[in-house]
Amino acid sequence: MEGIRRRDLFSLIGTMAGSAAMYHAMTALGFASESRYQGPIKLEGDPNGASVLVLGAGLAGMTAALELRKAGYKVQILEFNGRAGGRNWTLRGGDRFVELGGAAQTCAFDEGLYINPGPWRIPYHHRALLDYCKRLNVALEPFIQLNHNAYLHASRAFGGVPQRIREVRTDFQGQLAELLAKAARQGKLDEAVSTEDRGLLLEALRSWGALDGNFGYNANLTSAEFRGYARAPGGGLDAAPQPGEPIGLSDILKSRLWRYLQGFANYNFQTTMFQPVGGMDMIGKAFAREVGDLIRYNAKVTEIRQNGRAVTVTYVDTAEPAAPQTLTADWCVCTIPLPILGQLTLDVGPAMRAAIDAVPYAAAVKIGLQFKRRFWEEDEAVYGGISYTDLPIRQIAYPNNAFNGAGKGVLLGAYLFDGANAYEFTAMPPEERVARAVEFGAGIHPQYRAEFDNGVAVAWHRVPFTLGCSGNWSEKAREQHYRNLCEIDGRIVLAGEHASELPAWQEGAILSALDAIGRLHERVTRT
Ligand SMILES: Cc1cc2nc3c(=O)[nH]c(=O)nc-3n(C[C@H](O)[C@H](O)[C@H](O)COP(=O)(O)OP(=O)(O)OC[C@H]3O[C@@H](n4cnc5c(N)ncnc54)[C@H](O)[C@@H]3O)c2cc1C
Repeated sequence: MEGIRRRDLFSLIGTMAGSAAMYHAMTALGFASESRYQGPIKLEGDPNGASVLVLGAGLAGMTAALELRKAGYKVQILEFNGRAGGRNWTLRGGDRFVELGGAAQTCAFDEGLYINPGPWRIPYHHRALLDYCKRLNVALEPFIQLNHNAYLHASRAFGGVPQRIREVRTDFQGQLAELLAKAARQGKLDEAVSTEDRGLLLEALRSWGALDGNFGYNANLTSAEFRGYARAPGGGLDAAPQPGEPIGLSDILKSRLWRYLQGFANYNFQTTMFQPVGGMDMIGKAFAREVGDLIRYNAKVTEIRQNGRAVTVTYVDTAEPAAPQTLTADWCVCTIPLPILGQLTLDVGPAMRAAIDAVPYAAAVKIGLQFKRRFWEEDEAVYGGISYTDLPIRQIAYPNNAFNGAGKGVLLGAYLFDGANAYEFTAMPPEERVARAVEFGAGIHPQYRAEFDNGVAVAWHRVPFTLGCSGNWSEKAREQHYRNLCEIDGRIVLAGEHASELPAWQEGAILSALDAIGRLHERVTRT
C-alpha cells in the first residue's frame, strides 16, 4: 500500500462510511480478528494515588491488578488459596487437594506428568489470552482436538467396539454424498438446483464424498485414501494396499456416532488450539511473577462493605480463621466466583444482588489417570486428541506432549460436563470416581486393567474456591441480570468469567477484567 498507511486507510474509511464499512474493508484485506480484544489496554489519565482492592487472584483478578498498577493505582489482592491462578490450575505428583466435605487427595503422578483439572485448551481466536501469554513469556504448544485415529464409541453399537474417527467420518460423508448424487441424477433436486449447477454439484459430491466414477461410495482405494486401509501400502514384493469395508450408513445412523462429528468443527474447537508447555498453570504462574508481590495468600474474604468514600473488606487468614482483619481502599474489583460471593455480606444494591443469585454454576468432573506405559500410542497409534463415548466418562483425552516416549503417561480419563452423570460422580468419594473411570475406560482400551497406576479426580462443585465449574447463564437470566452484574455499584465492580459472554473460558475472565477496569478508570479520572 503506497502513500497511506493501512491503519490510516481503515480509520479514513471508518470516518467516512462508518464502522461497519471499516470492518468490511478490514475483513476484505484479511485484517479483522474475531476477538473483541483491541491490544493492550491503555488507561490514560492520572488516578491521583487512588487505591484498589482486588479480590481473587485468578486470571481476572491478576489481569486487573497488573494493568491497574501499571496505570498508577495502589493495588492489593486478597486470595483464598496459597497459590495464584484460581481455576487456572495443574496437578502434579505431590500436590495435595482437599475438597468440600473433607476428602483429601495427594496426586501420585511421576515427575514431569500432570493433569489440568480445569482449563486445558486455548482457541486461536482468544486473542487477549494469547497476547498475555506472549507478553508474559508463556510457551505454547498445539492442543489436539481432532485426532482422526482416536475413537468414537457407542456402548450399544458395533458390539461395543470403538470405531476410528476417520472411518466413521469418511463413511458417513461418503454415503450422504452418494445419496445426494443419486437424487440429483434422478432429477429429484431439479427444483432446488439449476441445470448449470447440477454438474458442479455432482463434481463436488464426488470429491467431498470420495465417490467412484459411478457416484458410488464403496470399498476401494479412493475411499481408502480418507478412511484408511485394511492393509496399508507397504514396500517390496507384497506392497499393494487393500481397502477396508465401509461401515454401513444405517449402522452409523443407529449408533448415533454422527453426533460427535460436528463438534470438531465447532468454532471454539477449530484448529489451531494451544496449551501451555508444562501445564495450564504456567499462565497463572507467569501472571504471579508480575503481581505476586501484591497478593496476600490464604486470605479468605468474608465481608465487603462500602460507603460513599471507601470500600472495607474483612478477611481471615485461613490458618487463623478466628481473627478477622480488614483492609480499606477507594475501589474494589471483586472476582470471587458467584456461588461464594452470594454467601458473603456484601453492600451492593438489589439489582446486583439479584444478578449474583441468578447464575447457577455448571457441574464438571475431570479425572486424571496415570498408566505404566503409553499404550494408546504404542498399541494403537493414538497420539494426542480425544476419544468420545456415550459412557458416563464422556471422553478420554490423550496427552498432547512427550509423544512416542517410553515410560508412564497420564491421560484425562473422564470429563463430565453438566448433566446427571456429572452430579453422580460429584457425589462419589474421589477414589470411587477414579475406580469408575478405570472400569468404564476399559470398555474402550482393554489395556486399562493391566496398566493402571494411580489417579486423581476433581469434582468442581466440591472445589472450595469456586463451588462449581463456571457460570451457567440461561438466556432469560442473561437478559434480565447480565448488565446489572457488570455495572459498577458505588465503588465495587465485579469481574471474572461469569461477567462475560464467554463463560467457562479464560478469555472471558480476562476480557471482563479489562472492561471492568476500563470503566472504573473512566469513573476515577472523571471524578
Ligand atoms: C473443568 C473446567 C474446564 C475448563 N476448560 C477451559 C478451557 O479449556 N479453556 C479455557 O480457556 N477456560 C476453561 N475453563 C474456564 C476457566 O478456568 C475460567 O473461565 C477462568 O479460569 C476463570 O477465571 P476467573 O479469574 O474469572 O476466576 P477464578 O480463576 O476462579 O478466580 C477467582 C479467585 O477467587 C478466589 N476466591 C474465591 N473465594 C474467595 C474468597 N472468599 N476470598 C478471597 N479469594 C477468593 C479463588 O481462590 C480464585 O483464585 C474451564 C474451567 C473448568 C472448571
